Amino acid sequence: MAAQTPAEPAPARPAPAGPAPVGPAPAGPVSAAWPAGETLAQTTPSPAWANERAEIIHRAVLTIDSHIDWPIRQSVNPGFDPAVGHATGAPGSGQWDLVRMEAGGLDGAFISIFTPQRGLTDEGYGQAAALAHQMIDWTEQLAAEADNRVGIALTPADAYRLEQEGKRAIFLGMENGYPLGTDIGAVQAFYRRGIRYLTLTHSKNNQLGDSSTDDHQDWQGLSPLGAAVVQEMNRLGMMVDISHVHDDTFWDVIRLTKAPIIASHSSARALRDSPRNMDDNMLRAIKENGGVVQLCLLGDYIKQVDQTPEREAALAALSEEQAAWLRGDLSEAEVMELLSQYRAIEAEYPKVKPTLADAIDHLDHMVAVMGIDHVGIGSDFDGGGGLMGIEDVSQMPNITQELLARGYTPDDIRKIWGGNLMRVFDQVIAIAEQTES
Ligand SMILES: [Zn+2]
Repeated sequence: MAAQTPAEPAPARPAPAGPAPVGPAPAGPVSAAWPAGETLAQTTPSPAWANERAEIIHRAVLTIDSHIDWPIRQSVNPGFDPAVGHATGAPGSGQWDLVRMEAGGLDGAFISIFTPQRGLTDEGYGQAAALAHQMIDWTEQLAAEADNRVGIALTPADAYRLEQEGKRAIFLGMENGYPLGTDIGAVQAFYRRGIRYLTLTHSKNNQLGDSSTDDHQDWQGLSPLGAAVVQEMNRLGMMVDISHVHDDTFWDVIRLTKAPIIASHSSARALRDSPRNMDDNMLRAIKENGGVVQLCLLGDYIKQVDQTPEREAALAALSEEQAAWLRGDLSEAEVMELLSQYRAIEAEYPKVKPTLADAIDHLDHMVAVMGIDHVGIGSDFDGGGGLMGIEDVSQMPNITQELLARGYTPDDIRKIWGGNLMRVFDQVIAIAEQTES
C-alpha cells in the first residue's frame, strides 16, 4: 500500500492557497488527495465524493488498532483459521482475521495476549503464563504461515516498513499482568517474546495493583511489585497501559513513569459514567505525560442503551455459569456449552448496541480536552467491541468516513489512526535507550 513513513521526505509541492494548515502538513499521498487545511465542513460534498476521499486517506495513512482479542477467542474455538476470510456476523466468525484486516485497510493491530485471572497463587500464575506463551506461539505460527501477508512488528519502524511492503503488522500486547507472577524477571522474558505493552490489570485486582471494576481495593493503587514492574517496563521500552486500572493505580503510574503511557482501549467518563472510562482530569494528565488514549468501541462504555427484557432474562439465567467460568471453575466442555448458549441468545435476542457515531462523540470529547495529538483507536474486537456501523475489522473505513464528515483533516486522521500511538511508542523506546546508556 502507498505509505507514509517518518523517513520519507515530503515531495515538493506548491504552497496551498488560502489559510495555512495548523501543524505540520501531511506528506505524500494524503496531501496529493486533499488540499492542505481543507475539511468536509468547508465543502458540500456528495456522499460518493466523500467516500472516495475517505477511501484515499484511509489507504494512505498507517492504520493501527491497539486492542484486538483474537487469541482468547482462538483458545475457545481451536478450529478457527485466522489466515482465511470469514463473513461479517456469521456464527463463529469473530471480528478479526487476516482477510478482513486486508479488506478493511487495517495496516496493523496489537494482538492482545489476555489471560483470565484465577487465584493469586503460584499455580494460577503458572497456568496463565503457559497460556500466554501458547497465545504468542499461535500468533507467531500465523505470521510464519502467512509471511507473504503479515509480519510481527516490534517497533514503529517495523510497522511502517511492513506497510510499505503491503503487509499487515502484528504487534503483541499483554492484557493483565497476572501471568508475570511475582518474578520481576518475567517482564523481560515476555519482552523478549515480543510483548510491547502491558495492561497492568484486567477486571479484578491482581498482584500489580487495583482494577477499576473490582468490588474492593487491595493496594490503594499500585502494589510495590506493580511499581517495580512500571520501572522495569520504562527500562526495557515496553509501553505501560492503564486501561482497566483503578483511578488510584492510574495516578500512581502517572507519578512514577519516566515515559509516556497509553490507554490501549478506554473511552470518556464524561459521556458514559463507568469506572472503566477516563475522567477529564485523567485525560489531561495523559496529555501532560505525552501519552495517548485509544478510543474503545465497546457498547457498555459508550452509551447506555436499553436491552429487551427477554434478553436480560436469558442472560441472567447464565450468570452463575459465567461467574464460574471467570473463576476458572468450568471444564473445557462446560465452557463450550456456555458459549453455545450465549450464541443462541445472540441469535434470538440480539444485543441493542450504540452506534459508531456515539463512539466518535467520545473521541470528539477527548480531542476537546486533550487536543488531537493524544487520541487513537483500540476496538476491543473479539473482546466485546463492536457497535452499530462497525461490526468487525473489515468495516474500519467507516471510522475514517465519520471523522471526515465531522471535519477532521487528513493529518488529524493520520494522527488518530496510528501516528500518535507510534510517536508515543518511539518515545518509550528512546527513553529506554537513554536510561540504558
Ligand atoms: Zn479489556
